[in-house]
Amino acid sequence: MRSISIFGATGSIGSNTLDLIRRDKTAYRVIALSGAGNIKKLAAQAVEFNAKIAVTAYEDRLEDLQDALRGSGVECAGGANAIAAAAALPVDWGMSAIVGAAGLRASMALARHGGILALANKESLVCAGDLLLAECAAHGTRLLPVDSEHSALFQALNGENRKALRRLILTASGGPFKDYTLEQMRGVSPGQAMRHPKWQMGERISIDSASMFNKALEVIEAKYLFGCKPEQIEVVVHPQAIVHSMVEYIDNTIISHMGSPDMRGAIGYALHWPERAINPIAPLDFTHMEALSFSSPDEAKFPALRLAREALQLGGHAGVVFNAAKEAALDAFIAGKIGFLDMAGLVEKTLYNAQIESIRESAQSSLAQVLAADAEARALVMENI
Ligand code: NAD
Ligand code: MG
Repeated sequence: MRSISIFGATGSIGSNTLDLIRRDKTAYRVIALSGAGNIKKLAAQAVEFNAKIAVTAYEDRLEDLQDALRGSGVECAGGANAIAAAAALPVDWGMSAIVGAAGLRASMALARHGGILALANKESLVCAGDLLLAECAAHGTRLLPVDSEHSALFQALNGENRKALRRLILTASGGPFKDYTLEQMRGVSPGQAMRHPKWQMGERISIDSASMFNKALEVIEAKYLFGCKPEQIEVVVHPQAIVHSMVEYIDNTIISHMGSPDMRGAIGYALHWPERAINPIAPLDFTHMEALSFSSPDEAKFPALRLAREALQLGGHAGVVFNAAKEAALDAFIAGKIGFLDMAGLVEKTLYNAQIESIRESAQSSLAQVLAADAEARALVMENI
């Protein structure tokens, strides 16, 4: 029986992970599940999967969680420190699926178990890629990407000689505003931005997909996961979301990974790796498929991609500054304080802010430093709104 924990259990990735576990409950012992404000769902999951401990990110909701779990035998805890402590409980397989930099501490703790760290929280690599990879290496933990594109790349690189790698081609659906003019994009609402044409995901990543900030984070994520140069990572718009990404080798061979746009594919791969297992996703039917198309992203409409490449060139803490500024700008957009297109402007301004030059350029040497850079960047965004 494998012991597992899921951080961000109540979210889209977390619920999909539990959906796979549910099909084979006797194979797993669930240790920790975490959520935030969705206490009812967290409590229901903890009871159904007989978790050892359930943790809410919100300390002031702990009482509600205790009420919901009274008599169940499930331990309860609340707050960011409690999540980090629960992530330190040893497990064979840990899913990091909290949204945003808030997931960083759980990823770092899961990296110390020497088992498998299934990483959906791409922000962990964007903010602290050097630290997370070093932690995994020091403890013999296997990092498996759960982002669909990176799972696809991981699979297309399986057994190949990395020296023969020429390019990683990340596919992007283009989001709901792919065919909008800049003028049309200026006035879009958070509700419109959340409606992703192909993938069912959490609200924040859906809006990030509409602005292509999600793809921007994924470029940085790929650099850390696969250790390639930034110029080897290309983004191609592929609206059908059937090809999940591709690897090009020096002999001009391209290995692509295809499948239905269902995250249970990438989650299931990480759950069963190195084996493959039957999963509930719809198989592809090539005889009834719309034509697959590919094009270059319009970087005038989607400056996030350029900014990610610039953050990679800057190195040091530029990734955490980039992500924190993006998260704070996203909060402001959701709150109706700024327009959709203002997000990229705020990120650019923060990335190059002279006040944080020394912070931005220093190497990632501790988690505390990364978190301080995160706070500094968020404060700068607030000043500029
Ligand atoms: P979601 O919004 O559906 O769920 C987020 C989870 O994090 C919830 O359990 C929520 O309770 C928890 N959470 C929110 N704020 C928190 C905080 N401050 N502290 C602790 N926990 C908090 O998000 P999601 O779509 O499942 O995405 C989760 C992660 O996976 C993100 O990093 C996202 O980029 C990545 N990812 C998601 C998808 C997808 O299809 N949903 C695909 C690829 C990668
Ligand atoms: Mg993705």
